[in-house]
Amino acid sequence: MPYQRLPYLYDVLPDAPPRDPWLSTARWRGMENLFRELARRFGYREIRTPILEPAELFTRSIGEATDIVSKEMFLFTDRGGRLNALKPEGTAPVVRACMENGLFGEPALHKLYYIGQNFRYERGQKGRYRQHQQMGVEAFGSTDPALDAEVIALAMTFFTELGIPETTLHINSLGTPAERAEFRQALRDYVKPHLAAMSEEARMRFEVNPLRMLDTKAERDLQMLEGAPTLLDYLGAESRNLFEALQQMLGALGIPFVINTALVRGFDYYTHTVFEIKGSGLGAQDALGGGGRYDGLVQECGGPAMPGLGFGIGTERCLLALESLGIRGPEADEKPVAFVVLAGSTPELNQAAVQLLMKLRRAGIAADRDYQGKNMRRQMKRADDLGAQYLLILGEDELAAGIVQMKNQSSREQKTVAIGEVIEALMSEPRRE
Ligand code: AMP
Repeated sequence: MPYQRLPYLYDVLPDAPPRDPWLSTARWRGMENLFRELARRFGYREIRTPILEPAELFTRSIGEATDIVSKEMFLFTDRGGRLNALKPEGTAPVVRACMENGLFGEPALHKLYYIGQNFRYERGQKGRYRQHQQMGVEAFGSTDPALDAEVIALAMTFFTELGIPETTLHINSLGTPAERAEFRQALRDYVKPHLAAMSEEARMRFEVNPLRMLDTKAERDLQMLEGAPTLLDYLGAESRNLFEALQQMLGALGIPFVINTALVRGFDYYTHTVFEIKGSGLGAQDALGGGGRYDGLVQECGGPAMPGLGFGIGTERCLLALESLGIRGPEADEKPVAFVVLAGSTPELNQAAVQLLMKLRRAGIAADRDYQGKNMRRQMKRADDLGAQYLLILGEDELAAGIVQMKNQSSREQKTVAIGEVIEALMSEPRRE
């Protein structure tokens, strides 16, 4: 093999390998279509931003001490000497685009969604890739916890409508930066005497990003952290009220949740609400999506005071979750409605097929044929493999009489139709869902 994919990437194919059904284009599109449709139902409009951004956008917004910025960005200097990054996440580019295009100049609410590729130089494994896709939303212009509830409800509705039955919503509040600073100090004070017994990762995080010590899976760290103070103890009245209002709204919507005080997420920009949705049976990579509020981010990026919040859901994780549950999930229809089968190989027949196909396609009917001179049996096999609903069989006799044989592949019924009436005949037949 002269060329191979770079490590921890994947290809999505019209016919997925049997071992990896999640790599099917129809499944990807089915999932994306559901997300788009749902975003629309909730009043979110699509935004598309470039894959490349100035590296500094992420250094400033995500935080220098985070894993993503300190070791995972795909960076390169372009021919003009600019340091660029392939975007590692979707929020900062949306903030940049809104500022640059003047969306924040007016007090309006902006509710946006995107489906985009992120790049992180991570140690790959099942469910963790160096390019991954997130389906996300960002909502700007309100601190109302009803908006937090809406954003979370959108994510949870997506999982329900996908058919993923067991998800757990974890929520936490990170309060304001000042409250967090106070908590950070308290956490350091608590951990310091135990530090020698903790993992190297914890010791490193202690120095650069202490909150992330909470986000550990190492048993000995978890033991040490058992009696540690929690951020919730350090929230002022206003932050507490916001968090409680959110919980009440989730309750009113019938969305169950657990409060997870160890949930800090990997970015520095979050304030108040943070959340994560975990699936079951996914092993270590069980986070299907997550997000939160970032009321200071727009200012941090050089814009006006503009509250906001959002989430990102990992497409790969959701597809893998469905696969591990043995559920197909929504699939985009890529099957032809009609397949023209040629009973003969004369140039006249060939030309008649070319014209018939074009007529069907112009009328909006997905139609196909063979071009490899296959015999009829093998043409029919191809039609079957592609999942065509109808065969349109055309031979010399039919051509002479100006007719085709139209065969319904599910009922096996066959009837004779005038070539000039094929479109009407197909349109009046019941269509596959
Ligand atoms: P994050 O942007 O880190 O908050 O991640 C949001 C969601 O994106 C996660 O819950 C995962 O579903 C997904 N995700 C993050 N990183 C990866 C990755 N390297 N590979 C696949 N999915 C990912």
